[in-house]
Amino acid sequence: MGIHAAFALGWHRALGWSAVVMAGVASNVPDWDGLPMLFDMSRFEVGHRVWGHNIFAIFLSSLVLGWTQYRFHWIESVANWIEGKIPSLATELPVTPHSSNRIGLIALAGVAMFAQLLHLPCDMVVSGGNGLTDWEIRPFWPLSKAGYVFPMIPWGDVGPTVILMSGVICSAKWPAHLSKVSLITLLVLCVYLLGRAWMRGILFV
Ligand SMILES: [Zn+2]
Repeated sequence: MGIHAAFALGWHRALGWSAVVMAGVASNVPDWDGLPMLFDMSRFEVGHRVWGHNIFAIFLSSLVLGWTQYRFHWIESVANWIEGKIPSLATELPVTPHSSNRIGLIALAGVAMFAQLLHLPCDMVVSGGNGLTDWEIRPFWPLSKAGYVFPMIPWGDVGPTVILMSGVICSAKWPAHLSKVSLITLLVLCVYLLGRAWMRGILFV
């Protein structure tokens, strides 16, 4: 979602490729609160969709992501490392220091924040189904325990993954039309969500 949003908004042209990578990475960051699952399932149930899925954690982690990229250029370092391991990618990956635009700390943190905030509504529309209960997002935790969910598609629905990854494949095939491909991808995703919500009896009843 982060990558498609960045392409759709034209950030690869306006801010450079590092902004697209930042959006892609940051859009997954709220799910750090699912890591306790590796050690203790009960802690996972308490913390997932809470600890990392609130505006305060998002604000702080966006500052960390933005500052570390601004100061240490980890996106370019990882790109260079990948290029070193897979030389054939060297001409494919444009995220190198010489070709990426250096953008400011505020812009980097802003991109990270936007991508993380986008994560919240995306999680809210995926919930319940298959005998499972809805899992609310609490965007103002720990100040407020108010939870929100709008379960348009059930857990485990492969539709969004198929649509978003098809969009990525199309982006690779038509690199001259990245914004258009991502806009269409996001549009198809919205139509799919509305269709699935209608099938679940959530809309138009
Ligand atoms: Zn999440």
